[in-house]
Amino acid sequence: MLRFGQHLIKPSVVFLTTELSFALVNRRPVVPGRILSMGICAPGKSRRRSGRLEGQDGPEAGQTVKHVHVHVLPRRAGDFSRNDDVYEELQRHDKEDSPDKWRTEEEMAAEAEILKKYFQEN
Ligand code: AMP
Repeated sequence: MLRFGQHLIKPSVVFLTTELSFALVNRRPVVPGRILSMGICAPGKSRRRSGRLEGQDGPEAGQTVKHVHVHVLPRRAGDFSRNDDVYEELQRHDKEDSPDKWRTEEEMAAEAEILKKYFQEN
């Protein structure tokens, strides 16, 4: 098991681990393929360029899990009628979180398998 703040994470939902970090699928993705990456990128490991980075540090800023993490949301043309509506959706998403809205472990593990394969092949 890996620790993500107050949560214990089963290996089945983790799709990538490095010496200093790991990445898991989100139990409640706002867009398909939303994932979480934890810890610190190991020097020399491959990094992907991000066009936009925003930080939410602490509960007052909306952070619910006390563990440094990065959300990655793959965007597709037309996924929201107004492109920036995703930010309102994210706020609503965090306010209205409850267990009945979470994906099952099986659903998460299936997505983790696809991503695991992708990272092995690329
Ligand atoms: P934040 O509110 O920015 O700290 O983000 C926490 C994120 O972690 C939210 O998107 C949650 O849906 C997600 N999350 C919390 N617990 C788990 C868990 N056990 N497995 C997968 N995702 C989780």
